[in-house]
Amino acid sequence: MSIDVIKTTHTEPIGEDATPERVVAWSLERFANQRMVITTSFGMEGCALIDMYARHKITIDVIYLDTMFFFPETYALRDRMIERYPNLNFVNKGTNLTPEQQSEQHGPELWKSNPDMCCNLRKVMPMTEALQDVDVWLTGLRRTQSTTRATVRVADWDWQYQLVKISPLASWERRDAWEYIKSNNVPYNELHEKGYPSVGCTHCTKHVPGMKVDEYSRAGRWTGLEKTECGLHGYGI
Ligand code: SF4
Repeated sequence: MSIDVIKTTHTEPIGEDATPERVVAWSLERFANQRMVITTSFGMEGCALIDMYARHKITIDVIYLDTMFFFPETYALRDRMIERYPNLNFVNKGTNLTPEQQSEQHGPELWKSNPDMCCNLRKVMPMTEALQDVDVWLTGLRRTQSTTRATVRVADWDWQYQLVKISPLASWERRDAWEYIKSNNVPYNELHEKGYPSVGCTHCTKHVPGMKVDEYSRAGRWTGLEKTECGLHGYGI
């Protein structure tokens, strides 16, 4: 598929002010014959997005990348999501490189000595592989998650992975995600209620004292470094 797919279908284009539910319905109609996948790191937004697509009674792959450095709470959430959404196909496309092999090949604690390389090995390269045959990539990105995400569009062409990227929650605030989660009884990571606004790998995620569950911040991720992104969404690593 190429960028032309955005221009050549008959469905009306979607506006940036469309509700997430409208974007979800539009994406299923417009790209009905394309290979679509949801990717998630089991953040609050990703869980809400998965719920929205599951309501359409579709079978779709939900890809996650187990870095082998997840918190126990994240693995528990993954299991709850699998149980809650039996029609969805949760697929781990994480690296086969064990932490021990990584240490042998690149030195101990690579997340400290070279976190960009660590993210590249454990996230970006596996994601590149996972998206190879995909036409449409569904993500839970929001514009107010960070300055680097401020320009996220609900539907766009992704030059990094060469596919259509749909972000139905682009216009949402954090509290919208939280309200959706609570209203619809969607599983979520209990660490959010314990001062972890964003949950990634154990080595690179810190507790942020005083953080409320409906507040969001990238504080707590790669604390002490200028790094704010893992590189999955083309914002550099
Ligand atoms: S978040 Fe940290 S531990 Fe996880 S892949 Fe990136 S650098 Fe490595």
